[in-house]
Amino acid sequence: MSLIVGGSVALDTLETPHGRADRVFGGSASYFAYAASFLTKASLVGVIGHDFPDEYLKVLEGRGISLAGLERSPKPTFSWHGKYHENMNNRDTLHVDLSIFEGWQVKVPSVLQNADTVCLANMSPKQQLMLLQQCKNPRFVVADTMNLWIEIERDALFDVIRASHLFILNDEEARQLTENDNLIVAGKSLLKRGPRYVVVKKGEHGALLIAKEGTYSIGAYPLEKVFDPTGAGDCFAGGLAGYLDKTGDLSFKGVKEALLAGTTAASFCVEDFSFHRLRKLTDQEFNARLAALRTHVTL
Ligand code: AMP
Repeated sequence: MSLIVGGSVALDTLETPHGRADRVFGGSASYFAYAASFLTKASLVGVIGHDFPDEYLKVLEGRGISLAGLERSPKPTFSWHGKYHENMNNRDTLHVDLSIFEGWQVKVPSVLQNADTVCLANMSPKQQLMLLQQCKNPRFVVADTMNLWIEIERDALFDVIRASHLFILNDEEARQLTENDNLIVAGKSLLKRGPRYVVVKKGEHGALLIAKEGTYSIGAYPLEKVFDPTGAGDCFAGGLAGYLDKTGDLSFKGVKEALLAGTTAASFCVEDFSFHRLRKLTDQEFNARLAALRTHVTL
């Protein structure tokens, strides 16, 4: 099986109660692909600028992630500056530079067009759709989004939701998109728009799965220290999608199991800034934590 993910590859400036990091490696597709690589063969589609360090590309290649779909542009790399509140569950975007995405025509190389699992990580919904249209016959489509696109590209976002099998977003975004405070009601209203599954991420409180078969709630991996939550949502989605690509079991039970892989990936991500923890993470460590988590949960 194989998985492709399209989205942002970024230079992030991060402020958390534990400190600050400037122009470090980030991006929705970077985290997503990295997490998926612990479970399956992952390829990344995206665009980077003239200023993007080769060292970060090596981090992705080190996990066997194909960068055949990663373009280099003369513009500056997408950058995002986020500041977390004291509780680290909420954050503000202080600055975002989307100029590299303006007029960017997403191109999926022909070798990647037959991927079984297509993942539309956070980028403009129009570009998410452009990517999906080039994929031949995906078995499973996973889509993510964020508040900016809910605000400025709502209609195209609903087209993405309609085209996805599993739509994933966080609690704040689910409330904003559906104008409903109850997450189960919000999730059910999104199900009516097409996807077979809706997953609502709730940060340190875990995640909810909503499907016609029922709902399921999973807690986060219990950690005593959370350093930087950036990328946790993307790692969660990448672990989940990677697991589904690996097992091919798209049943309700199969998706519940996949949530454990998402939870595992996210738990490593938050242990340090940027990719600092992830880049040291071994397959053995990943599998050991996934196995430990499995013993805590009754499916
Ligand atoms: P997460 O913490 O999982 O929600 O994802 C954080 C990542 O999303 C950061 O590394 C950012 O570079 C990236 N990001 C932030 N805003 C956007 C945006 N509007 N489009 C695409 N990626 C973004």
